[in-house]
Amino acid sequence: MDFGIAGRKAIVGGASAGLGKACAMSLAREGVDVTIVARTLANIETAAEEIRAATGANVTPVAVDINTDEGRAEVLRACPAPDIVVNNSGGPPSGNFRDWDRAAWIAALNGNMLGAIFMIKDTVDGMIARKFGRIVNITSSAVKAPISILGLSNGARSGLTGFVAGVAREVAKHNVTVNNLLPGDFDTERHKSNTQALAKVQNRSYEEMRAIRIGQVAAGRFGDPAELGQYCAYLCSVQASFITGQNLLIDGGKYPGTF
Ligand code: NAP
Repeated sequence: MDFGIAGRKAIVGGASAGLGKACAMSLAREGVDVTIVARTLANIETAAEEIRAATGANVTPVAVDINTDEGRAEVLRACPAPDIVVNNSGGPPSGNFRDWDRAAWIAALNGNMLGAIFMIKDTVDGMIARKFGRIVNITSSAVKAPISILGLSNGARSGLTGFVAGVAREVAKHNVTVNNLLPGDFDTERHKSNTQALAKVQNRSYEEMRAIRIGQVAAGRFGDPAELGQYCAYLCSVQASFITGQNLLIDGGKYPGTF
């Protein structure tokens, strides 16, 4: 299927590794010019080379913290009129809510709620004017089924989810869609460190904890980041123009509910 987005311009956050890189790779395969962001210069340059080599697309790496005003401004200087924005960065630390003070909560809200909201604020009016826009926020399955050691994530991402539910309906008539992708378990560095943290809390080995987590996924495996990247590219396609304001789980059937 031709997704109809060749020549479009995208900003993809948290894209030197894991899910963000997979989204950038899939969009680049569709002929989208991608501006990819991560904090570590060497890693984002390496990712840009890899995506260029695999797809032949125009790839612009930007090394900033995308959740700061200055970082976002630098990204928007590199890509001033994006048609597609994939809001993604690192998740907050795991832990026990009794140990989190106000500063920990503010940092989580900034990283997993406000960063995406400000990026939407900075880009959505241009999309409305151009009559095409696709915004995909990478949130988490924890929005539907909270993970106790990820309380900062459960809370902050739920705030973003509430905001998106409203704004998506406001901009839909301009062919601008806003959706949240909710990853379950994907084999990335972040997922490995969460498994290590869980293993410690439960006094198990990493291998034992990993096997338990795989056993919780109906598909019997963790997801490949490329699978999420492909879903993201579809949500950014012309064909997906009637999908908006949705929270879309991609979790190999782990979530046990009917709805
Ligand atoms: P990952 O493998 O750790 O990759 C994170 C990427 O984001 C890296 O490129 C990192 O590079 C970049 N990054 C982190 N903070 C950033 C910032 N402030 N500004 C710009 N770039 C930043 O993580 P992942 O597994 O792909 O996860 C991506 C997101 O999905 C996270 O929010 C995570 O919590 C969420 N999630 C993941 C899973 C899963 O199974 N993997 C499940 C549910 C939710 P630098 O460190 O160099 O900046």
